[in-house]
Amino acid sequence: MHYVIIGNSATGVGAAESIRAADKSATITIIGDEPHHVYSRPLISHYIAGEVAADEMRYRPADFYTRRNIETRLGTRAESLDVDAHAVTLADGKALHYDKLLIATGSIQKFPPVKGREHPGVFDFWTRAHAEAIRERIRAKSARVAVVIGAGLVGIQAAYGLRGAGLNVVLVELLPAILSRILDTPAAAYAQAILEQGGVRVLTGRSVAEILGTADEGVTGVVLDNGEKIDCGLVVKATGVAPNLALVKDTPIRVNMGIVVNEYFETNIPGVYAAGDVAETYDVTRGKLFVNANWPNAHAQGRIAGLNMAGHATAYAGSIGMTSMPLFGKAIVAQGIVEPEPGDEVRLRESRENQIYQKLVFRRDRLIGAVMVSDVSAVGLVNHLIQAQKPASAVKDALLSLNAPYYAARRAWFKPEVEGVNLPWRESLSSPERYEKHFDDAKWAERERDERKW
Ligand SMILES: Cc1cc2nc3c(=O)[nH]c(=O)nc-3n(C[C@H](O)[C@H](O)[C@H](O)COP(=O)(O)OP(=O)(O)OC[C@H]3O[C@@H](n4cnc5c(N)ncnc54)[C@H](O)[C@@H]3O)c2cc1C
Repeated sequence: MHYVIIGNSATGVGAAESIRAADKSATITIIGDEPHHVYSRPLISHYIAGEVAADEMRYRPADFYTRRNIETRLGTRAESLDVDAHAVTLADGKALHYDKLLIATGSIQKFPPVKGREHPGVFDFWTRAHAEAIRERIRAKSARVAVVIGAGLVGIQAAYGLRGAGLNVVLVELLPAILSRILDTPAAAYAQAILEQGGVRVLTGRSVAEILGTADEGVTGVVLDNGEKIDCGLVVKATGVAPNLALVKDTPIRVNMGIVVNEYFETNIPGVYAAGDVAETYDVTRGKLFVNANWPNAHAQGRIAGLNMAGHATAYAGSIGMTSMPLFGKAIVAQGIVEPEPGDEVRLRESRENQIYQKLVFRRDRLIGAVMVSDVSAVGLVNHLIQAQKPASAVKDALLSLNAPYYAARRAWFKPEVEGVNLPWRESLSSPERYEKHFDDAKWAERERDERKW
């Protein structure tokens, strides 16, 4: 049996791991057009900032492929697919036969046709090669000012990395708020303030009309739509991403926003699977298919796709949209649906002084979304509630109410279940005792001591 995986990142590696765990003797080949050992893409900005070294970006140990007996074709592009012949043609013209195929080609960046975008010094921000080129530009040209176009997740991360590398950074966003697809308006205002405190100049409601440059210098500046000229030695393009569908373009593989797969990650072509950023999967909060492009989803989907490829039928429960980022010493997390619709309920906790903002969105008795700025202490439980879509009425008020929301929420949640009921202890609690007494309020109250200062 030959498993071929196209894409050597979160998804591809997750799949290779679970295939190997399930099938010790199969041949597994990972094809990746990037030449590197698998690395953590979210660390690119921290690499530019000098916070991590190239080696520390590695997502798996150096001997990962050899220990699992995984063949690699790194630095090699898969050019085309023939699903009838079960073959992938590589950049060198050679064809690779597969029995089962996983397409894990991730995302590509999109950028409008702005004049001057071809100047040297104008970069995408997706791969380690982009990060190396940016570092080289900073070193060789002594670039002191960078302009980042687009203030979504990637643009914010680029601004953070470049600021960390010592540059003056101007972030230009066409829409009235930054991170507008991820955060609600108040959270976006906090995020903008955090960026500005970190030294980033943020311009919203502005666009770049032209990128200026010369043959010798490459990029020398940008002109905004209001005529303002900003001199700079480096520009990052970060106006959006889309599933990387190039490989499936002329194939019968069904595509909508991303590659369409069933709950086992199989496409409409038997034996051909897709997962991660390139695939459209069930979104548990939206209740429909969606592309939820993020690292943990990609890895989890890769693992489950791999199990299915290896013959262990495992249905995927679905994903939620999720973004979490550290920003100049603060944390920002958004999960699920953050803008309520009529009929939804909202719980808020906010301290302007401490730049703390927490918002939960409930639809009927389920938690469907959350935004957290600075205080993300409840994030684990919140994530569980959104992902599992458990009834959450019992914890609606507890989740944000105390400094130890985890315990408060669990008490509110489990008390009605265990009060007076003769339940066996869970094995994970390492005790065979039966739970015969009443819920121990005093003990739980002790755990929930409110140490909040405001
Ligand atoms: C700067 C940055 C910061 C981010 N920060 C976060 C974060 O904080 N948290 C978070 O959850 N997510 C973050 N993300 C998003 C996250 O990195 C992606 O969701 C994740 O990498 C998707 O994994 P994937 O394996 O599906 O695809 P990708 O990581 O995109 O990998 C796909 C791989 O396939 C290769 N490939 C494509 N086509 C071919 C072909 N034809 N032949 C061979 N190889 C091919 C690509 O070169 C690439 O190496 C960030 C992304 C970036 C760029």
